[in-house]
Amino acid sequence: MEQFFDVVVIGGGAAGLLCAIEAGRRGRRVVVLERNARVGEKIAISGGGRCNFTNLHTRAESFLSRNPDFCRSALARFTPQDFVSRVERRGIAYHEKKLGQLFCDGSSRQIIEMLRADCNEARVEIRVGCEIVELGKASTFRVCTRDGDFVAPSLVLASGGLSIPKLGASDLAYRVARQFGLAVIPPYPALVPLTLDRATLEPLGGLAGVSFPVVARSDGAEFRESALITHRGLSGPAILQVSSYWRPGRPIRLDLLPDQPGPSVFETKRGSAMELSTVLSQHLPRRLALAWCALHAPSRPLNRYSVRELAEVARRLHDWQLDPAGTEGFAKAEVTAGGIDTDELSSKTMEAKRVSRLYCIGEAVDVTGQLGGFNFQWAWASGFAAGQYA
Ligand SMILES: Cc1cc2nc3c(=O)[nH]c(=O)nc-3n(C[C@H](O)[C@H](O)[C@H](O)COP(=O)(O)OP(=O)(O)OC[C@H]3O[C@@H](n4cnc5c(N)ncnc54)[C@H](O)[C@@H]3O)c2cc1C
Repeated sequence: MEQFFDVVVIGGGAAGLLCAIEAGRRGRRVVVLERNARVGEKIAISGGGRCNFTNLHTRAESFLSRNPDFCRSALARFTPQDFVSRVERRGIAYHEKKLGQLFCDGSSRQIIEMLRADCNEARVEIRVGCEIVELGKASTFRVCTRDGDFVAPSLVLASGGLSIPKLGASDLAYRVARQFGLAVIPPYPALVPLTLDRATLEPLGGLAGVSFPVVARSDGAEFRESALITHRGLSGPAILQVSSYWRPGRPIRLDLLPDQPGPSVFETKRGSAMELSTVLSQHLPRRLALAWCALHAPSRPLNRYSVRELAEVARRLHDWQLDPAGTEGFAKAEVTAGGIDTDELSSKTMEAKRVSRLYCIGEAVDVTGQLGGFNFQWAWASGFAAGQYA
């Protein structure tokens, strides 16, 4: 059975739904094909169930991409305030948690309901449980599914990245992109916990769940947030942020005393008989202070360290170098970095330069936001851009 539309959108996530709404509002006949039983599964679990749906401080610098300027145009044409206006119009209560991060007061489901209601009003058809078998283009696109063929002059790839396969993630966007000759930057897990090898993890044994403020650095990026020790390594916002910039074989560096510049942590106590670990416990969780001393500076009274030795201890505390063994992978990654090469796309319309009326949006594209609502803002903005033209 063949069904004809103006636009087929593959993927009923944040980007696909917003794009479908925009195209529908322009009078286009739009169908969204979603393999899950429900649309917006990632929205549902996002932000701990409250969906951090945007960030007021969104700017191009909050994103990782081989072309850092690509996202500027779309972000300028659909701003955080544009999304907030939609949220307010539907009467959804929200709050700023910190650093411009906006969350629902109630549930992420409210955002999904809003998008579904907007789809309804724009006469967008949504087909769930829809498995795509194959896809091709002659004069129009033809998407073959187990529910029949969908034929349309415009196709929008909005099927996301590889993160969290159990929520429906697939490599479809990359496969289709390659099928049409578009380059794909190798995807890798980002915003993901890092693992440590057994030798590093052992002295930290029993510390799982301990959280502490740090400045985390890797590959020129730095984030001041909290870190968390886990059974397998490190997590927490600072680590998730830095994981997107970390590359295998490189270290990450943690400043464990971000509020105590230079060697000042020991200045007033230099001649005292206090144990090093006791002094550090005033600034770090005690169990971490003990473990760190066991690893790097066997604790003794401060008056038994030379000035140089204390300066070296302080330097190490400000620059604790760790060599992650790896990441917890796509199963735990909040996003996928890499993806469809932005060089292949128009930054104005998201249309592929060499395949007329093929649009690529959202996480499938090589634009990856930092933690804090930026990834949804990119999904909305790129969806909005494509929705004006598809
Ligand atoms: C646990 C978690 C929490 C998060 N929290 C936040 C947050 O609070 N704020 C934030 O900004 N970002 C957050 N993110 C990231 C954010 O969810 C994504 O960046 C965003 O959802 C990407 O939108 P998208 O539409 O491009 O892709 P997705 O939301 O992944 O949507 C893609 C859709 O395509 C469907 N699909 C995939 N393959 C196929 C196929 N073969 N056939 C048909 N359909 C297919 C999928 O089922 C999915 O519904 C979080 C991510 C995770 C995993």
